[in-house]
Amino acid sequence: MSGVIYIITTGGEGYIGSTNDFKKRISDHKYNIYNKNSKQYNYKLYKKIRENNCQYEINIYEDNLSLNKKELRIREEEVRLLLGATLNERRAYMSYEQRYQRKAVPTKCECGCFIRRSDMACHRKTTKHINLMISLEQNAKAELQH
Ligand SMILES: [Zn+2]
Repeated sequence: MSGVIYIITTGGEGYIGSTNDFKKRISDHKYNIYNKNSKQYNYKLYKKIRENNCQYEINIYEDNLSLNKKELRIREEEVRLLLGATLNERRAYMSYEQRYQRKAVPTKCECGCFIRRSDMACHRKTTKHINLMISLEQNAKAELQH
């Protein structure tokens, strides 16, 4: 297995990519620059290249990496951050912790409980939530009467 991390530069900006099949990846990039039917035609990288009269440079940053797909993506993300590449659509790799943190950030329900976003729909059907909402309503009514 021979992994490659490469850089595409165009108009003073950069894109970091990784692949185990450099030739194929390069021809994919070419296809995406010119082919309007490509799903990726409007990606930042290809737009920028077209703005720049289709002038771009591809350089290999590291090669002969014996990394599996996942490890290669982790390395790609490290290099992307290191070089401050701005033309990538998204992170190459999000760690389990990063993904978990995103889901786990609790949000406040209208009943006052803090609930993970992913659990919110279930939570709203619980007796706990319903009872809290009822007592909130009763409190509000009681306050109005005072
Ligand atoms: Zn609630």
